[in-house]
Amino acid sequence: MPETGCRDTPILKQRGQHEVFCGLTGIIWLHRKMQDAFFLVVGSRTCAHLLQSAAGVMIFAEPRFGTAILEETDLAGLKDAQDELERVVTDLLARRSDIRQLFLVGSCPSEVIKLDLGRAAEKLSARHAPKVRVLNYSGSGIETTFTEGEDACLAAMVPVLPNTDQRQLMLVGALPDVVEDQALDLLAKLGIENVSVLPARTLDSGIAVGPNTVFALTQPFLGGTHAALERRGARHIPAPFPFGEEGTTAWLWAVAREFGVEQACFDAVTDAPRARARHAVAKAASTLSGKSIFFFPDSQLEIPLARFLTRECGMHAIEVSAPFIHKGIVGPDLDLLAEGPTIAEGQDVDLQLERCRASRPDLTVCGLGLANPLEAEGLATKWAIELVFSPVHFYEQAGDLAGLFSRPLRRRDMLKLEAAE
Ligand code: SF4
Repeated sequence: MPETGCRDTPILKQRGQHEVFCGLTGIIWLHRKMQDAFFLVVGSRTCAHLLQSAAGVMIFAEPRFGTAILEETDLAGLKDAQDELERVVTDLLARRSDIRQLFLVGSCPSEVIKLDLGRAAEKLSARHAPKVRVLNYSGSGIETTFTEGEDACLAAMVPVLPNTDQRQLMLVGALPDVVEDQALDLLAKLGIENVSVLPARTLDSGIAVGPNTVFALTQPFLGGTHAALERRGARHIPAPFPFGEEGTTAWLWAVAREFGVEQACFDAVTDAPRARARHAVAKAASTLSGKSIFFFPDSQLEIPLARFLTRECGMHAIEVSAPFIHKGIVGPDLDLLAEGPTIAEGQDVDLQLERCRASRPDLTVCGLGLANPLEAEGLATKWAIELVFSPVHFYEQAGDLAGLFSRPLRRRDMLKLEAAE
């Protein structure tokens, strides 16, 4: 632990214009994770384009998402829009018998016309139960950031989970299947039984919640889901996030302690993957060590990543900003992040750009909209969104995570060399 961490560092609150993607983006990874779900965005052509371009080649696969386009005429006739939505859903479910969970996803246009998706979901759920469950959440871009879509989606599922009194662990956050399997394997080797995952891969997974449920978050952007689970009586296990060797060990140890796992057993299970992770991180860390980094607020992974990059890769953080700072969730990471960087919440993009230019960081982590202009000014950047799309959690991905940050620096060095020749 550093002598003084950043938990009590005064937070620079920024409340100005911000540059972020909206919560619809989460559909791109959620639809891969939940194999019997369909995400129906109730939005405009802009929303449809965003999804199609973000989803890239996936559009050619059998899609598990689509957009019910609100035409201009719908903006005038609310009743027609409700009827039309019900018709679209009925047609979709008749055509696609593989759909067991349908999410009606709100957007800016549906919110502007105050389309009541909650009521529509209830009505449609009653009509199509028990085969299909219909839920709703908002992916709207007004005052949000792109990872909030997953949070809203998971939070929408919590109230309808069945009750259980069983003592159990719930992992919360959508991880690529291969990473989720690695985590479940480590927990099984530690002797922890009754582990469920939210979001479950299918509706029939048997996932339930109750007063004897403890949960560990695998993503730091799940504030709404955290609150919804607590309302169902579950208890959160606070821990640093499982990024890098140290973060993964601290996360696993917090869970292990909760279940009374002995230190000797813990060491026997984790020693070998810890050594592999340290070795893999060390390779990339030689490029990163001594370099400075500046985080714009975007993915909400910023604080745990700053902890990883400063402690395990030897980087120096200048500013670490996140869209929201929930100390109940990122407090353990703030404890480990040594005092020094500016900790900021929210965004005032022009002022922040000035601070970034003045400090000339070696690497800037930011959204796509800021990356190109900053690159043109000679600053190396990393797209925050890539960190959410890539497998980066737990021991076996620790080296890849460090590599995501070292690559832009190595590329810059190579370009400099070529220019000099
Ligand atoms: S939800 Fe809003 S911000 Fe997102 S694509 Fe649709 S209109 Fe744009």
